[in-house]
Amino acid sequence: MSSIWHPFTQHGLNEPIPLIERAEGATLFAKDGRRIIDAISSWWVTTHGHCHPPIMRAIAEQAGRLDQLIFAGFTHEPAEAVARGLRAIMPESLTRVFFSDSGSTAVEVALKMALGFWTHTAGSGGEARSRIVVMEHSYHGDTIGAMSVGERGVFNRPYDPLLFDVTSIPFPGQGSAGDPQATLDALEAACANGAAALIVEPLVLGAGGMKFYAPEVLAAMRAICARHGTLFIADEVMTGWGRTGTLLACEQAGVVPDILCLSKGLTGGAMPLAVTMASEPIFAAHLSADRARMFFHSSSYTANPIACAAAAANLAIWREEPVLDRVARLEAMLAQRVDALAGRRAIRNARVRGGIAAFELGEGDGYMAGDVPAIMRHCLERGVLLRPLGSTIYAMPPFCITETELDRVFEAIAAI
Ligand SMILES: *Cc1c(COP(=O)(O)O)cnc(C)c1O
Repeated sequence: MSSIWHPFTQHGLNEPIPLIERAEGATLFAKDGRRIIDAISSWWVTTHGHCHPPIMRAIAEQAGRLDQLIFAGFTHEPAEAVARGLRAIMPESLTRVFFSDSGSTAVEVALKMALGFWTHTAGSGGEARSRIVVMEHSYHGDTIGAMSVGERGVFNRPYDPLLFDVTSIPFPGQGSAGDPQATLDALEAACANGAAALIVEPLVLGAGGMKFYAPEVLAAMRAICARHGTLFIADEVMTGWGRTGTLLACEQAGVVPDILCLSKGLTGGAMPLAVTMASEPIFAAHLSADRARMFFHSSSYTANPIACAAAAANLAIWREEPVLDRVARLEAMLAQRVDALAGRRAIRNARVRGGIAAFELGEGDGYMAGDVPAIMRHCLERGVLLRPLGSTIYAMPPFCITETELDRVFEAIAAI
């Protein structure tokens, strides 16, 4: 009996917990000999495939040279390479790269940067804004600050007394179903009231149920924030690195944020690492000869050299290989199979964007709808790792998944 307490796992249900020994491409190899297709990229992180050789080589080489280094007042080549690589492919106005180690911490850093910006500019005659605006159904991580800006519900009810107050604007709706004007009006009102920042997942709300909304809405939201000076924080922790068909989802809306959060695919999914990129005015607000104005944030493993080496190798892959062509190929493969499935099963709201396919199965909505453990077990028995979000079934495989592997994923889904 293992003493491990697993995340997002109800141990009281006694569901099987496979022991994985090895992984390659889109396949996990279990100790008991089973092969399992990783149809959710090990929780949205793996982009090019598991144990992708150039990334593994970079990790091994770096591990022989420099393992870990204090990052306050010191630097190292892998971090410099990541910063240069990001500057070359991310929006030009995002001039500063701050490292941390997970999506949640990238979000915490973004929120602290935003409040730091307003506090420090208030000192020079500005106003100290602190109100954060969020979108209904959002997810930004599981630390207290990240939970505060995320959807309130069964995940965080016990911690509610610790969460800070935010202004929530309605989800604009998928396709023709929604009411984008209500979203924009609520944002306009919040910004006019002096909101410090809006934090939003561009185009796809991940954990909130793979909910898609239109690029035009994102562009309109960005314009409202710009008009009122409200900082626009794009949480691209899930949507970044090609997941929605472009390097950043923001590109599809022609939007450039003031602050950008990246993690998950930053290392190709191999190592825990995150960055929060900020525009020059946000950095400049903290710049002073006064030590009391520096940015007070760090974690022990900030910019760990081995994780940075993995990210630098990922950036080289993005420079040298046709990654977005692979995503386009995956998108076509997904669309074809979702169409075929719709002919066989009663699915609702079928949608595909980049490397993400999602639809609702059965009755009910929300995270606790549907028998998720039973569906997961059903898929595992067919050699497929899927993890529905309530009644929402989705696939988000590594870009390297083959036609045959994806067929197996959809056969498992069709048999649910
Ligand atoms: C996963 C996720 C996070 C949190 O990232 P962790 O690395 O799990 O802390 C934050 N924002 C979004 C949009 C995510 O999908």
